[in-house]
This record gives sequence, structure tokens and C-alpha cells, in this order.
Amino acid sequence: MGGRIGHREVQVKAPGKVNVFLRVGSQQADGYHDVAIAYQAVSLCERVRVVPADEFAVEVTGSVELSRVPSDDRNIAIRAAKLLAERTGYRGGARISIEKHVPVTGGMGGGSADAAATLLACDTLWETGLPRDEMLELARALGADVPFALTGGTAIGTGRGDELSPALAQGIFHWVFALADFGLPTPEVYAELDAHRARHATEITPADDAPTVEADVLQALRAGNPRMLAEAMRNDLQAAALHLSPQLTRTLELGEASGALAGIVSGSGPTVAFLAADLDAALELQVALSAAQLNVVRATGPVHGARVIE
Ligand code: ATP
Repeated sequence: MGGRIGHREVQVKAPGKVNVFLRVGSQQADGYHDVAIAYQAVSLCERVRVVPADEFAVEVTGSVELSRVPSDDRNIAIRAAKLLAERTGYRGGARISIEKHVPVTGGMGGGSADAAATLLACDTLWETGLPRDEMLELARALGADVPFALTGGTAIGTGRGDELSPALAQGIFHWVFALADFGLPTPEVYAELDAHRARHATEITPADDAPTVEADVLQALRAGNPRMLAEAMRNDLQAAALHLSPQLTRTLELGEASGALAGIVSGSGPTVAFLAADLDAALELQVALSAAQLNVVRATGPVHGARVIE
């Protein structure tokens, strides 16, 4: 086999994300919702290492709770590697090692980052040279957040969140993430939102068919201004996540009382993301929330998407 393979090992780093804006449109006939998302890739990253093998296998280590991560064919990294092999006609396999630092089922796209990292790592390992647009197409087939984990930076996602366009952004935003010791499956949070909208159909304005990201969010990102962004952040899934996990309300209150400019449930939760004014404020917030027994990590954004580590 050795002669066919140029690399003995490839390592890729891919970022988790925070949705600084997430609007959920009305439910479509296929059950999915159109969304409008402003994504920011953050410095909480996954590392994926691949080595050649005859079959496909995965092992998972890392700094976050790992009990909910499958280590068989259900792992999205294996699905990504198999999809690439199928598309390119590659006949071998890969042994995949994931080092996880993005909370599992935390609303920060950790599985999506693993999928994106594995696509890039295997394409490099196998020298299959898949064009970028085809890689994005495979990413989309694996999950709505996977294309963004490949591209990183700051982007707007529409459709299911996977139709990406880059957003102008400058500066560095400082975040403190409060990790929960439980997960919230994304479909349950959407179901809760649908139930809420059905119960209150007569009182609330119907959801948009084609939601968009509001101008003040784009302006805040473009200006690199955390105070403006704090004012503009919004997540339509937050009320549903809080309904399912009322204890997150206390987390949000604690962060805002400890100097955060604003707190927001990240994606479908249960991670809560706090935006700080600068590095010093983020460090102070991290200390205050740790003292209140919360499990917190600090990160910055935006960072680049999946990249091979030399
Ligand atoms: P998103 O924000 O994209 O909805 P998330 O961050 O909430 O995702 P993930 O941690 O990406 O959640 O995915 C969690 C689900 O995916 C769990 O049901 C888990 O069992 C399954 N899964 C499959 N592969 C992986 C992986 N490599 N890492 C984490 N979870 C995985």
C-alpha cells in the first residue's frame, strides 16, 4: 500500500462556532425550517489526525465530556471519511483520532467541526484532490453546519444554514462559554419552538418564510464593536432552550451580573455564550463564573476554518 500514499499521517484543526444571530423561519413542507444565521468561528477547536488503514475506525479523546460521542460507524467523522472515499473512488480506509475540545451536544457545532476536519484530512492523506466546491457539497450532505466549519471566519448562512456567504468583519471578539453538564438535542429544541408557536399562533406574528440577518448585526461585525454586537445578538431558539432547561436562566443572569456585555444561548444550547468588552473583562468574567461553580472556557473569534497543521 505504501507506494500509493504520500502521507503517513495528516492532522487538521477545525473550529467550533457561535451563532451571534439565529432567526428561525416558518416550518417548510419537509419539516425543516429556513434559518438566517450569523456564524462566528471561535478558538475552541477540534483536532483530527488520520493515518492510512484498510478499514475505517475512530477513537476519541479530549477535554470535554465524551460519553455521548459514538466510537462506531455512527460517528460523523467516519461518515465523512466514507463519503469522501465513495465520491473519489478511494479504496482504502483511515484510522481517525479526534481530540475534542468543543462541548458535545452543546450547540457549538463540535460534530460538524469533526466532519469538516476529517474531509480535509482524508483528502490530504489520500491525495484525492477534491475541488473546493465538491468538498463543500459533501460537507452540506453531512450536516447544515459542516460547510461553515470548513470555511470559518464570519459568515451568513441561509436556507438550512448551509448556503454561506462571507460577512465583512474586523477585530477580535472575546467570549466566555458556560458549558452545561447535559446535552440538548437540536431536534428537541426545534420541536419545542414549533409547539410554542402553535400554542401562541393568535398572539405572535407568524415566522418569516425567508428570514434574514438584521442590518445592525452585520454593522457590529463589520465595525468589530462588541458593545454594538451585544445589543444586536438574538437567538430564536433561546426561549425554547430555556423552556427545556430552566436552569440556564440563572447562568444567563449570573454572567450578565458579572460583567458580560450580553449572554446568549449558543445555537440550540445548552452552552451559554457571553460576550465580553475586551480580554481583561473576559478574564474577570471567567474567574467570577468559575467561583460560582460554572464550568467555563474562554475563546476568541473569528478564527479560520479547517486547516492542515504542518
Ligand atoms: P449543532 O450545534 O451543529 O446542532 P451540537 O454542537 O449541538 O451540534 P454535536 O456535539 O455536534 O452537537 O453533535 C452531537 C450529536 O451527534 C450527538 O447525538 C452525538 O452522539 C452525535 N455525534 C456523532 N459524531 C460525533 C462527534 N464526532 N462528536 C460529537 N458528537 C457526535
